[in-house]
Amino acid sequence: MDRVSELFGVNVFNDSVMKERLPEDTYKILKSTIKEGRGIDSSIADTVANAMKEWAIEKGATHFTHWFQPLTGITAEKHDSFISPTDDGHIIMEFSGKELIKGEPDASSFPSGGLRATFEARGYTAWDPSSYAFIKDETLCIPTAFCSYYGEALDQKTPLLRSMEAINKQALRIIKLFGHDDVKRVNVTVGPEQEYFLVDKTLYDKRPDLIYCGRTLIGSMPPKGQEMDDHYFGVLKSRVAAFMRELDVELWKLGVLAKTEHNEAAPAQHELAPIFTTINIAADHNQLTMEMMKKTAQKHGLVCLLHEKPYDGVNGSGKHNNWSLSTDTGINFLKPGKEPAKNLLFLLTLAAVIKAVDDYQELLRISVATAGNDHRLGANEAPPAILSIFLGEELNGILEAIENGAIADSAKREKMNMADIIPAIRKDNTDRNRTSPFAFTGNKFEFRMLGSASSISDTNVMINTMVAEIFAQFADKLEKADDFESEINAIIRETVKNHKRIIFNGDGYSNDWEVEAEKRGLLNLRSTVDALPLLKSEKNIALFERHGVFSRTEINSRVDIILENYTKTLHIEALTLIEMMNREVVPCVCEYTDKLCSTVLHKNGVGGVCCDVERELIARLSAATKEIFVLTSELKMAVSSAEKTKDILEKARFYHDTILKLMGDIRKYADSAESVVPAKLWPYPSYGELLFNI
Ligand code: ADP
Ligand code: MG
Repeated sequence: MDRVSELFGVNVFNDSVMKERLPEDTYKILKSTIKEGRGIDSSIADTVANAMKEWAIEKGATHFTHWFQPLTGITAEKHDSFISPTDDGHIIMEFSGKELIKGEPDASSFPSGGLRATFEARGYTAWDPSSYAFIKDETLCIPTAFCSYYGEALDQKTPLLRSMEAINKQALRIIKLFGHDDVKRVNVTVGPEQEYFLVDKTLYDKRPDLIYCGRTLIGSMPPKGQEMDDHYFGVLKSRVAAFMRELDVELWKLGVLAKTEHNEAAPAQHELAPIFTTINIAADHNQLTMEMMKKTAQKHGLVCLLHEKPYDGVNGSGKHNNWSLSTDTGINFLKPGKEPAKNLLFLLTLAAVIKAVDDYQELLRISVATAGNDHRLGANEAPPAILSIFLGEELNGILEAIENGAIADSAKREKMNMADIIPAIRKDNTDRNRTSPFAFTGNKFEFRMLGSASSISDTNVMINTMVAEIFAQFADKLEKADDFESEINAIIRETVKNHKRIIFNGDGYSNDWEVEAEKRGLLNLRSTVDALPLLKSEKNIALFERHGVFSRTEINSRVDIILENYTKTLHIEALTLIEMMNREVVPCVCEYTDKLCSTVLHKNGVGGVCCDVERELIARLSAATKEIFVLTSELKMAVSSAEKTKDILEKARFYHDTILKLMGDIRKYADSAESVVPAKLWPYPSYGELLFNI
């Protein structure tokens, strides 16, 4: 075997390890449990736990942890060692089925949005056998779901698993109507492309804003940004290349299918794309990827920034969520095939996605709503905050033909000859449209509004549930239909007629589109505070309850958690900015002005040498420091009045409308000061250094 194949998955308790290490009947029971998404049979738990422990110890593990994803957006783990005392004063290494299946972390310190008071600290983690256990830092990690004492979901995984069930159930109804009786399960497949920035660790350590907030709060643009388009796909710098190679290896060991690594549009920005897999695993793997990115960067004297907008003036980072549906027998619902016009399963699924995105635009927007991501959406670098779907010419043509009752025909896919020596290549069904938030890209939909720091779970919970709902509506009709094909045609015709406003193949970054979208009646939810309250609408609560994904209580608590997270983020940012201004920027500018003043005095003393430049600088800098000083005091007062606000939505609004704006104003003056203060006096590394010194 080659080195990579040998390495791949060495730290994963995967199918082949299970097969090798479990008794045959135990293996069979576990395998069918996983395949069909059923609950675990507790009679096999002890055997599985013991095999896991033996394997983990052989690999040097001493501890185990239930690895889960609370609503902090990152993962949590509490390590227990395998040791258990014996009567004779020794220890043995033990791990029981009970410990594998259930954990009881003291849950009071995780966000619960009022679902759990501090005195009700009990929470449970429960093993998710559909995602393989793995070893990280000498610890056996068991992927788990996390819930409260009363069973409410307190994590990202639980609703994701529920939404997978929901879409599986409805998609099975659809696929059976097409005569595929052998299908037992329909899985959601996802490949998330992950963008990130790297920055030199010693420079990072000098920036409190990067340390506390993950993004710069001030910084004037260097002479060069991303305008030359010379970074995208550019040759990798050697330190970055070394980082990427090591990252790949670390991820491969964990069974993550890291595939593509390249430079992104902004300087010091990069991307990693894995090969797609089942959503639940993709979500776990994306969390591991983010964690490994941070860890591996440190080893190379770098810091990995996952924030959506680390720097003003250059592109921020997102995550592209490539989504599709596929049966356990290998049918991809979104594969157009040679003749998409005749592929009814494909067209019906396309119609379902179109209707789902139009009916539930706000849910997709809500799923990407964070303080960080608000800086990106609509800033002409990421899709606007308006949802729309890109289909491309051919599919558009087919849908239009069906709408008009004409016979739809699939275009012949052209071949291109670039030069005689170069092999002819076949063109895709669609060109790329980089500006669309929800684009059909060959055999999947690519949702591009997601922020780089978020878990992909929320977004997929939404897509799965929305599409499950529309599949259910379609299946209700189709199961009763006398003529299956003409009913499908009718459904597609009606969907296109009623929902074509959501289809937009033009430039999503243009101002015209914003105007046009408003005419079409599409939502434009500019910020997290605009979007979040809509999650609680009766329409959305009904949707989630109908499909068993969230209860009303869970939705209400989630809204609170997200808003709380939003205000806390801005609170930290405001405090950081205040500290930077009061303790570094203002003193620095005063010191420099002071120097200039002495120069003027001195020059005057030696006989009236002209000091126009010094005087002009003094005037400008004094004006700027005064503004900074006044605005910073204002910001300080605003923060304390924000913190007194009880109502969480009102508080979030205040942070958005007043505090963010003040921070922006302060920044303008600080940046203008930075551009004239000598580099060696400025307290912080400049954008130029941060972006180009890798
Ligand atoms: P691009 O940069 O053009 O968007 P990439 O090749 O970087 O494309 O990423 C495409 C992503 O889509 C990869 O993660 C790939 O595995 C994923 N993908 C491909 N087919 C499917 C599918 N059927 N379901 C989900 N994801 C898919
Ligand atoms: Mg992409």
